[in-house]
Amino acid sequence: MGNLCCSPSQGSPAKNFHKTPFEGRTSIVSDPNPRYHPDPKRNNVDFVRSRVAKSGRTRVVVAQYSYMARDANDVSFHKGDRMEVLDDSDGDWLKVCHLTTNIVGFIPENYVAEESAVQSKDWFMENVSRKEADKLLMNTANSRGTFLVRPSEHNPEGYSLSVKDWDDQRGYHVKHYKIKPLDNGGFYISTNNVYPTLSALVEAYAKNAFGLCHVLSHPCPKPTPQMWDLGPTYKDKWEIPRDEIVLGRILGKGNFGEVYLGRWKDSKDVAVKTLKQGTMSTQAFLEEAAIMKKFRHNRLVALYGVCSKEEPIYIVQEYMRLGSLLDVLRKDQGKTLDFRDLIYIAAQVASGMKYLESKQLIHRDLAARNVLIGDNNTAKISDFGLARVMDDDQYQLKHNSRFPIKWTAPEGITKGIFSIKSDVWSYGILLMELFTYGQVPYPGMTGPEVVELVLKGYRMPKPNNPKITEDIYRIMLTCWDAKPENRPTFEFLTHYFEEFDVTTELPYKEVDY
Ligand code: AMP
Repeated sequence: MGNLCCSPSQGSPAKNFHKTPFEGRTSIVSDPNPRYHPDPKRNNVDFVRSRVAKSGRTRVVVAQYSYMARDANDVSFHKGDRMEVLDDSDGDWLKVCHLTTNIVGFIPENYVAEESAVQSKDWFMENVSRKEADKLLMNTANSRGTFLVRPSEHNPEGYSLSVKDWDDQRGYHVKHYKIKPLDNGGFYISTNNVYPTLSALVEAYAKNAFGLCHVLSHPCPKPTPQMWDLGPTYKDKWEIPRDEIVLGRILGKGNFGEVYLGRWKDSKDVAVKTLKQGTMSTQAFLEEAAIMKKFRHNRLVALYGVCSKEEPIYIVQEYMRLGSLLDVLRKDQGKTLDFRDLIYIAAQVASGMKYLESKQLIHRDLAARNVLIGDNNTAKISDFGLARVMDDDQYQLKHNSRFPIKWTAPEGITKGIFSIKSDVWSYGILLMELFTYGQVPYPGMTGPEVVELVLKGYRMPKPNNPKITEDIYRIMLTCWDAKPENRPTFEFLTHYFEEFDVTTELPYKEVDY
């Protein structure tokens, strides 16, 4: 519900939301010009707000980003706004009372941070890897000295400081420093300068570089977080009323039907996959959707819901503006991707697959055509059409199923056995597609020729292409090891590509990754 004002906290604040309006409480005058919600009912002012400060037991969160309400149940807010949490029992949506507008409703949990926590700092980024930090800081809008702090990927207690720098030789680049914790509290980069908190450390280095490449000038803008639902109404249900979606242009054609750009409630772009009648059972199509809905990772395309009441059935998913990786690589756009970008894409795909590996899910159709690209070369894995959760650790192909031969591991072709290791094989083929800018694998060869040769031990040779270094080609070959168990894990591959570009320059004794 989004149109009640806040009720008082009693006991545990997060669980004590009362639907009934309050009696006998002092009225306070709230913002005379409610800023956000067009519905006046949702800007009710008749309640006491001061309890937040008095009780000392309430949980207050601060908005890290602005958010515009999408349906009758959620609350709009601006970056920096404070909200009291009334119910946090749903993982993705918090029920809150906005402490300025007094509107009660749901907000996306990942748009806010605990007021007192380090996550609420402009410069702190919780889920950012070293590669992503590079990418964010290298945005041309960021000047020298722009920085962020993130949890260390290697030391669970430690953090890393990433700073954008410039010099004549390398132009703009990013340097990373270890922030080490002390056993009895406190943090340091250099043992000469120890600080009680991360904030104190950042403040000090914002005034004086103390040996860093540059003083810390501006916090790096945080990217808007991923949303997993269209709005709180859809947090527990996934049937979307068809009339909420207006179809626009065709984005592409898939195996089972067209994919359209859609607009949900005139407020959000979505991609709509339609199921051509007679190509696949409704049941199988919905199974694909169910799998996508269940698995969430920032390197997997999000599924918002389905329209399954009438034909053609729609799957409504996150819209990725640049379309499939294969198309991007083959178009002019692809030419603008430099080596660093290709490595970044390889790392992101490996990271999404690492997540599937950890969930014991096999994709079974991993290829450049099934990776989608968004802004800033964000890559996400799509098309779980053939995906299956493994009962054991491998999946036996049913008769008559079709599979993409040039991407399929030998044991998949000969025995119909698929496992996460056959996905690793496909990932090796995807790497070849990536570094050859979308060339068809095994150029000039037919599927049956490829099968015959691969089973005899033939592997795609290293193309005469300076982007495919010996190291990268060796990684491809390990992905194509005849014995599945000898192929690397996606965890290893993620680490490999995440760390690929590690600078050898040590600008400071404590330089880190
Ligand atoms: P598919 O049915 O998944 O093979 O999709 C066919 C084509 O539609 C892809 O190659 C993309 O060009 C486009 N497409 C599919 N899903 C999306 C999406 N979520 N965002 C943008 N384009 C998409």
